[in-house]
Amino acid sequence: MKSQGPEVPEEVVKLEGFAPQDLYQRREKIFTRYVGGLYQKLRFYSGWPLLLGYFLMPWVMWGDRQAILFDLPARQFHIFGLTIWPQDLWLLGWILMIAAFGLFTVTTIVGRIWCGYTCPQTVWTAIFMWVEQITEGARHQRIRLEKAPMSWNKFRRRTAKHTLWLGWAFLTGLTFVGYFTPIRELTLSIAQFEVGGWAALWILFFTCATYINAGWLREQVCLYMCPYARFQSAMFDKDTLIVSYDAARGEPRGSRKRNTEQAQLGDCIDCQLCVQVCPTGIDIRNGLQYECIGCAHCIDACNQVMEKMDYPPGLIRYTTEHELAGNKTNWVRGRTVGYAIVCLALISAFIFMVFDRETFAFDVLRERGQLFQTQADGSTSNDYQLKIMNKSQQDSTYTLELVQPDWVKLDRDYEALIPAGEIENLTLRLLAESPEPGSTPVEIRVCQESNESCITEKTTFLGPMNTGDAR
Ligand code: SF4
Ligand code: SF4
Repeated sequence: MKSQGPEVPEEVVKLEGFAPQDLYQRREKIFTRYVGGLYQKLRFYSGWPLLLGYFLMPWVMWGDRQAILFDLPARQFHIFGLTIWPQDLWLLGWILMIAAFGLFTVTTIVGRIWCGYTCPQTVWTAIFMWVEQITEGARHQRIRLEKAPMSWNKFRRRTAKHTLWLGWAFLTGLTFVGYFTPIRELTLSIAQFEVGGWAALWILFFTCATYINAGWLREQVCLYMCPYARFQSAMFDKDTLIVSYDAARGEPRGSRKRNTEQAQLGDCIDCQLCVQVCPTGIDIRNGLQYECIGCAHCIDACNQVMEKMDYPPGLIRYTTEHELAGNKTNWVRGRTVGYAIVCLALISAFIFMVFDRETFAFDVLRERGQLFQTQADGSTSNDYQLKIMNKSQQDSTYTLELVQPDWVKLDRDYEALIPAGEIENLTLRLLAESPEPGSTPVEIRVCQESNESCITEKTTFLGPMNTGDAR
């Protein structure tokens, strides 16, 4: 590549061993070669259920609503039978913590398995590459097409590719937005050209993001944008599973014909297939690199070469640094046990908290702008606004009672039937015939009849300042 930096005199390069490097290199387009094999089958069989799950899940119903719906306007997140209210947002934080520690545990043991097999960037890029393969042909055809001037053949192939990319990206964007707004209504509104402005904007945004990330940026996302790619190496040690080239067996590399003995050469025939299939364009024979996403394309490619050469497979393989050095891999070690314990503790605490949390909540607020009123019979009244949230999955009846003080009474019996997942606002009046002067703490209890659970909240009752002595 031509340098854009300052020119360095040739004698300096020779003397200092210094070679100028571009800080802003142009991206070399990667033309990956298709490869089959054991690990690609594994990716196929693990990827499709995840992909189907992503696209079908918003269509699954739970009762009369979507099973997974992050209803932002109503500020309720529904995950099957679990409804997360704004007060329960810490549960989402907890889920994220469990996911993070689960990922740490897995990464410590099996390296970048997430990146190589299940990360959406990897899965979507693989689909886009497959589309590229069927519209523009194999690697050598794509390279030739790239270099060729525009022609009818190039135009129609490129058009087909981008149309399919955009179609898939649109489905991805629509589905993603369908997790936040009921997907049946959303799809219908699109079909009738009546989709709302915000929904249209977000679908457009996620369509473009998918198209650009999986179609154009590809490995650049893993190399420069993904934070996990940068810090996951901190979880690696010599016992972590990595994709590695067995240099002791492969070197010195050199080309040869099949069935010819080359005593001075190792098993690597320097065919470059492992480089041509690599989606990040690296040569794994140069050792472990942060660009390696652990996709195992190179393992499958090299194993096929080894088979053709009648050599044993595994010149490139999943292994550990300890194993490569001739030692035994230690699978159970301090950090894996530590991460697993934290992960299990978080999961246990989460399950306990989900089952132990109240199935309803209530708030009590004094009516704004009022202190107290004097009724016709001479008693003093205070008004309050009550908000009762039925967080359960069943309609429930709620009753109110006053815990203390005993000289304050409810003005009537309060009972409310609140549908599942709904909020009811009630106006509550408390009466006192002979109130204490000033402010008195008051405790109000709301009970859910079905499971007899009760919550008590505190507020205050205000009485006239000059009536205290009279009581
Ligand atoms: S595919 Fe195997 S044999 Fe071919 S260059 Fe790579 S490591 Fe060597
Ligand atoms: S070096 Fe091998 S495992 Fe790593 S990204 Fe390239 S093909 Fe995938």
